Amino acid sequence: MQKPSIEEANAAIDGELRAKRPCLWLNPARLPSAVALRQAAIGFADIEAASARWQRFAPLLKKLFPETAAAGGMVESNLIPVPSLQRVIAGDAARGAWFLKGDHALPIAGSVKARGGIHEVLEFAEKLALEHGLINPSRDYAVLAETPARQLFARHTVAVGSTGNLGLSIGVIASALGFKAQVHMSADAKEWKKERLRRHGVEVIEHAGDYGEAVEAGRREAQSDALSYFVDDERSLSLFLGYSVAALRLREQLSQAGVAVGPDAPLFVYLPCGVGGAPSGIAFGLKQVFGDHVHCFFAEPTASPCVLTQMLHPERPGITVADLGLDNRTEADGLAVARASALAVQMMTPLLSGIFTVEDDDLFRHLYLLHETEGLRIEPSAAAGFGGPQRLFDTPAGRRYLAENDLEQRMDQAVHLLWATGGLFVPDAEYSGFLARGRLCDVAYRSAST
Ligand SMILES: *Cc1c(COP(=O)(O)O)cnc(C)c1O
Repeated sequence: MQKPSIEEANAAIDGELRAKRPCLWLNPARLPSAVALRQAAIGFADIEAASARWQRFAPLLKKLFPETAAAGGMVESNLIPVPSLQRVIAGDAARGAWFLKGDHALPIAGSVKARGGIHEVLEFAEKLALEHGLINPSRDYAVLAETPARQLFARHTVAVGSTGNLGLSIGVIASALGFKAQVHMSADAKEWKKERLRRHGVEVIEHAGDYGEAVEAGRREAQSDALSYFVDDERSLSLFLGYSVAALRLREQLSQAGVAVGPDAPLFVYLPCGVGGAPSGIAFGLKQVFGDHVHCFFAEPTASPCVLTQMLHPERPGITVADLGLDNRTEADGLAVARASALAVQMMTPLLSGIFTVEDDDLFRHLYLLHETEGLRIEPSAAAGFGGPQRLFDTPAGRRYLAENDLEQRMDQAVHLLWATGGLFVPDAEYSGFLARGRLCDVAYRSAST
């Protein structure tokens, strides 16, 4: 088989995207990790600085959020082996070991957004408190729960635009610290997410438009108020670094699970992708830690593949999925984004292995299968990566990736990590609906494939 040229391959993928057909794209711009990381504007020291910030704040988080006390005030999730899910999805021929990263159960926010969102609000709070002489970095930050700090924070507003989960993260931490918190919600944000925020004392501002418009409205409003701080999901380095800390923690967890990622044990990671901030921050950290031995793939809905659209069309910065004729309508509310983060695209261009797109029915089917096999509860967005291993094994592009990277002989020792990104606070009634739809999708899938 002759290898298609980059232009041919990208043109073929462009056609698949417009037709909303699920596909796997391999990134032709990927470089050896060492080369790519040398060119990056940020490095390992920045990830370590973010990690140290989480450490400094742990005593405060422990005090404000008792659910983090058992973990010493750390906001972290479990690494969970999922052999039954692996058997059900991939059958007896499944090779390697599958794990799930349980960010669906991250405390405080109930999604991966806890990593970036909380980190950015903590960084802002730290800066204010240092400027006002309320803390010094070697002292216990639990003093930030006391009156002088709270009075300082109460004069400031923290604002964000969100499809739901980033708002939940920023809103809850900001109001817990005593800030005024304002969340601009897009039309696709779920009602229960808005209600949860209002219960936490957060002001929810509803917008008729999509995520990009909610962000724009929030940005504009914050600019006109000197005491307002806007968390900008399309550009923020602080969010990015907050996410990247996951890699340091995962390294420990894998080693505790007896996994030694290396030349003979490659690690494949499948990350649900919206604007691109969370998966690119995590992937950047993973490349720093594991270099060429980790292979990162993003998963996007067929209706909202904004990062793939931008990667295919670098000559058109700011391109949206509407420019390809796509409607950005998906039940994966966490991923319903029409325009990618430029920061995410820039950071991932030399590092990402590929991106695949997923239909909503498969999100529900995989959500249901995870419930049946492992008893875990996630939201539809969080299931986007579950079809990743099959894309590698069962598609021409996937097999080409394995061949070109000399991986075929190593797949029995490979580790596949499905990053589950949200779900902890989904209300029961909502979740029952997800399961019912997933069961139907599973029946339809089985009858179509026999
Ligand atoms: C936000 C989100 C993602 C993706 O993060 P981005 O930074 O938007 O790419 C994935 N899953 C869930 C559940 C999310 O809320």
